[in-house]
Amino acid sequence: MPEEPRPLCAHCGVVVKAVDTGRPAEIVYRHDLRVEPWDHLLEPVLGTPRPLPPACDFCEAPEPDWIYPPATGPVAPHEDLPASEEAPLLHELTRHEWFACDTCSVLIADGDLDGLLDRVLGDRPALDAPTARRVRGAFGTFLAQDPHPYPNLT
Ligand SMILES: [Zn+2]
Ligand SMILES: [Zn+2]
Repeated sequence: MPEEPRPLCAHCGVVVKAVDTGRPAEIVYRHDLRVEPWDHLLEPVLGTPRPLPPACDFCEAPEPDWIYPPATGPVAPHEDLPASEEAPLLHELTRHEWFACDTCSVLIADGDLDGLLDRVLGDRPALDAPTARRVRGAFGTFLAQDPHPYPNLT
């Protein structure tokens, strides 16, 4: 049976979802990813989504070596995280596993936010300063929960 067309991003093929902003009249769309891509804006169209192979949720390296279980305790948003990103990011942190490659997991273990951003934004530059700040806020929020991974054996 062919898949029903779904809202997705024309640029990257990732499924798009509406975000509950807490304001009824306002609908915000977002890539259905742990962290939104930083090198392009979302361009919604209808289509058949591409299945995404597992990748590092930070640098997008394939075949990530480490899995971080969902956060169990309270998560404090980083000061650079825009208010509009709080609900979707906390949802991703508390309900989903995150993947990381070996290199990113070392930076995470060291709590090295600047190192992680250098690595990630060096390969895929941010659109603009607010985007770089949003990525910093998202990764900073991840680091603040002092996450501990287990090896990905699949
Ligand atoms: Zn996209
Ligand atoms: Zn990585």
